[in-house]
Amino acid sequence: MLAEIILVGKILVLVIQQSWKRLRTSIQSAVHRLTYRPGEKPKNIVVIGASFAGYQAARCLANSLPSGYRVVVIEKNTHFQLTWVLPRFCVVDGHDNKAFIPYGSYIKGPPGSSQWINEAVESVQPTQNGQPGRVQLASGKEIEYEYLVLATGSSATLPSRVCEESKIEGMKAIAAQREKITQGKHIVVIGGGPAGIELAADAKTQFPDKEVTLIHSRETLLNDGFGLKLHHAVCKEMENLGVNLVLGEKPVIPDGMDSGDIKLSGGETIHFDCLIKCVGQKPNSHLVRFLSPDAFSRSGHIRVKPSLQVDDDAFPYIFAAGDVIESNGIKNARAAFEQAQVVAENICRSILGKSLIEYKSEWWEGTTKITLGIGKSLVYITDHCAEVLFSMKKQKVELDSAMIWKHLGQKPFIDPEDKLVLV
Ligand SMILES: Cc1cc2nc3c(=O)[nH]c(=O)nc-3n(C[C@H](O)[C@H](O)[C@H](O)COP(=O)(O)OP(=O)(O)OC[C@H]3O[C@@H](n4cnc5c(N)ncnc54)[C@H](O)[C@@H]3O)c2cc1C
Repeated sequence: MLAEIILVGKILVLVIQQSWKRLRTSIQSAVHRLTYRPGEKPKNIVVIGASFAGYQAARCLANSLPSGYRVVVIEKNTHFQLTWVLPRFCVVDGHDNKAFIPYGSYIKGPPGSSQWINEAVESVQPTQNGQPGRVQLASGKEIEYEYLVLATGSSATLPSRVCEESKIEGMKAIAAQREKITQGKHIVVIGGGPAGIELAADAKTQFPDKEVTLIHSRETLLNDGFGLKLHHAVCKEMENLGVNLVLGEKPVIPDGMDSGDIKLSGGETIHFDCLIKCVGQKPNSHLVRFLSPDAFSRSGHIRVKPSLQVDDDAFPYIFAAGDVIESNGIKNARAAFEQAQVVAENICRSILGKSLIEYKSEWWEGTTKITLGIGKSLVYITDHCAEVLFSMKKQKVELDSAMIWKHLGQKPFIDPEDKLVLV
């Protein structure tokens, strides 16, 4: 009980600290706007990837870089793709556009402090003998950099990630996944991480007559870092909803097999006519694989120093943040945000010849909200001494997508590109 009271106290202190940090940052940005000058030929800080890590790093950099430098963001997607709502939209129709947030007004730096390129980066060449490094784009064009930020995240299939780069193709892919679930009568979801749990619960709420089974390879749901309290709470909700839960089984099902039978180790057979795989997220670390095999971890993530520089002394000008890095903490948007701020600060410090600061994963970064059917969520907070778990009801079908649109500087759910398509 005492540990829980301490945790609640820590949460209150955190809210005050974060509010103060936001206020301090907006004052610093206002002062920066008055003093910053891009100069005739600004030096580039290139950020690859503009999701939670890269977009935040770009915003911080544009609002703090010394004069003579600017941030160049290179992002292959036309829109910011909001992962959180994908399991829901793969089940419930009518909201797909809300997962695609127009890029634009979040960076907010002074004139000349940023440039945007909507393209994929194909390769990276390091800085050498005082010469700037270069990234090569899919078009063949090369962009020079003084510092590079790798924020390329990870890839997977729906309902975890959209594989398409344009909003139109992404919306088509979500609709196709939804159609598959709507048509199926025996739905099997593989993978008991957040995406698998949310999709299974939503499918059963939306289609109570369908048989929905969630299969997870371990005996406890979710990954390391989440406590047993959350596992038990999710199991109870799954039971209430009527989702069949199969733990400790790892069936091998070939890609493309859309119907069939899964034989479990105990001899039981589960029939499926709709299979949704929520496993196998892969870090997008290929840009570093050839540059620095030493900084490439066994899991395929980029190894970084506490300063978030790539863990190879040959590349002090390359930083990385977000899902693509090897870290002990839970990989989520909160952690990506915090890392992005450390990267931006360290790049400014490095330019000014100051010592670099270290990123330390904080307990609150692992705070998690999991939807358990339409209209219900569980919020889980732990400081590794105590766990706080509470449920939220009466959630909107589109979840908190409007809040994220506003946070990223957009009016929900107005996309200027939609008008262009209609014209
Ligand atoms: C279903 C689901 C629900 C989730 N819910 C939550 C939640 O509720 N709360 C939370 O905090 N976190 C949540 N997460 C985790 C969160 O989405 C990730 O931690 C976060 O997206 C990581 O951000 P990132 O910027 O590191 O990488 P990503 O989001 O993976 O983005 C990487 C970006 O880099 C771009 N990119 C990659 N390679 C290139 C290239 N070569 N050239 C140009 N651009 C490139 C990509 O297009 C992409 O925009 C959830 C994840 C999933 C899958």
